[in-house]
Amino acid sequence: MAGTFLAVGECMVEMAPTGEGTFQMGFAGDTLNTAWYARKCLPASWTTGYFTAVGKDQVSGQMLDFLRQSGIDVSQVLELDDRTVGLYMIQLKDGERSFAYWRSQSAARRLASEQAQLSEALTGADLIYFSGITLAILPEADRNTFFDTLRSARRAGAKTAFDPNLRPRLWESADIMRACVTEAAGLCDLVMPSFEDELAHFGDQSADVSADRYLAAGAGMVVVKNGPEEVICARPQERQAFQPSPVQNVVDTTAAGDSFNAAFLGEYLTSGDIAASVAAGARLAGTVIQHRGALVDCFEDA
Ligand code: AMP
Repeated sequence: MAGTFLAVGECMVEMAPTGEGTFQMGFAGDTLNTAWYARKCLPASWTTGYFTAVGKDQVSGQMLDFLRQSGIDVSQVLELDDRTVGLYMIQLKDGERSFAYWRSQSAARRLASEQAQLSEALTGADLIYFSGITLAILPEADRNTFFDTLRSARRAGAKTAFDPNLRPRLWESADIMRACVTEAAGLCDLVMPSFEDELAHFGDQSADVSADRYLAAGAGMVVVKNGPEEVICARPQERQAFQPSPVQNVVDTTAAGDSFNAAFLGEYLTSGDIAASVAAGARLAGTVIQHRGALVDCFEDA
């Protein structure tokens, strides 16, 4: 069975330290991470696309080349004359990583500024995947354009999946974040939160409370990740809990949730089997967190 998986969001330039004052350039971002893993998890008959906005400069071109080389379709990406891509730098001090961002004027913030192009990209996708970060970076009017376009794509048959990925610093306020994330959940077939975020920013006392809250908002199914604890899969009349296999040597949890989502969706879109989908998500995330970095090419030993 063929299909199209389309992730929507922001890919950034990553500058990662390689020594005293030297950095290696790479590309990363939550939805990009999920698209990158989804490409590896989905059958070759599926197209994995990414929708964002970039500039027309050299580094934007390098980003698109990286995506193409990863097997990701970027034919719909919006290219803007007057912007370039966002960037973040990782710095190390006494073994601790800190991040500095240059993204407030990034091209990706304009990804919903051309509704016709957004609509063309979303229409025809079988699964549209986005996150709370996708929403956070949009101006308010463009967020509404994005929601309207999602509604139309759903009417045309697309399924939608959303990771709230709550990052209050990217939003105008925590209240606006909670309201927009709740509205987005109501437009989604699948909501895939990480309980740690939901506890911190919605005050949920358990993963079941998070699942109930997103179901009440209108989500079709909620998959609550919770680090090494059980994954809860809830639909209005049905709830299951699955225990991920223990991981002894956790090195770096970057992209645990992003990779889980990709492998879960890769399995779910092809088999529809929830238990097998959680197992695939937990297996990939469990491997990713035993390596450094967001994009771990672990498919030989996954
Ligand atoms: P999180 O977004 O941190 O809740 O993690 C996403 C998924 O990664 C979880 O549902 C687990 O499948 C996996 N995971 C994260 N941390 C651990 C851990 N310490 N041990 C085993 N699996 C983990």
